[in-house]
Amino acid sequence: MSDTAKRHAALDKKPGPEQVLEALTEGNRRFYQDCPRHPRTGMLRRQQAHVSDQSEHAQATILACSDSRVPVERIFDAGIMDLFVVRVAGNVVGRATAASLEYGALHVHTPVMVVLGHSGCGAVTAAWHHRQEGVPSESERIAHLLEHIDPALDRVMASGLQGEQAMQAAVEENVWQAIADLGQLSLPVRQASQEGHLLVIGAIYDLSNGQVRWLDQQKAGSVLQGKG
Ligand SMILES: [Zn+2]
Repeated sequence: MSDTAKRHAALDKKPGPEQVLEALTEGNRRFYQDCPRHPRTGMLRRQQAHVSDQSEHAQATILACSDSRVPVERIFDAGIMDLFVVRVAGNVVGRATAASLEYGALHVHTPVMVVLGHSGCGAVTAAWHHRQEGVPSESERIAHLLEHIDPALDRVMASGLQGEQAMQAAVEENVWQAIADLGQLSLPVRQASQEGHLLVIGAIYDLSNGQVRWLDQQKAGSVLQGKG
């Protein structure tokens, strides 16, 4: 068998999006029930990673916040080469982040892409204070990062929610905003989703109990295509 044929055979063996979501859900269950198995993390897997192509193994591309309380592989009890992870404060999507996510879809060939927000997100909270109370950012660069969150906050402010409810809504709206921005910035990701090669989905990680809550799958598809 030629190298190309071998590679295609390996890719064909990859699980479908529904199986990947089940595996992520099951891994998260082990994590929040405090019975992680830490699969595929030993020396054998590490040696395998040295010689193999990650695209034959990685199952999901995940965009998460840089927050140290959101350790992605642990949350999903996943191993080496299981996840292609992109982390940026506030899980916002600018050009570099969109390019990394696009790489996950086009070159690592993950059947699933997750935009993972989390409760108590410091970036969302800072953007909220900046917007509501005019609290200035410490730097121009941080202010620029937080601007990505503003459209999400506009929608929450228009809803009239207050206090903790507003913050929870802002975290979720920020996930929808990241998916919308990704759709705007990456035609290949949009196409891959439309053609059924890639399932894009939003989720929220709850710091209080370790659980990941999946957001509406169909809405994610619509928002990505600019119809949300
Ligand atoms: Zn955060």
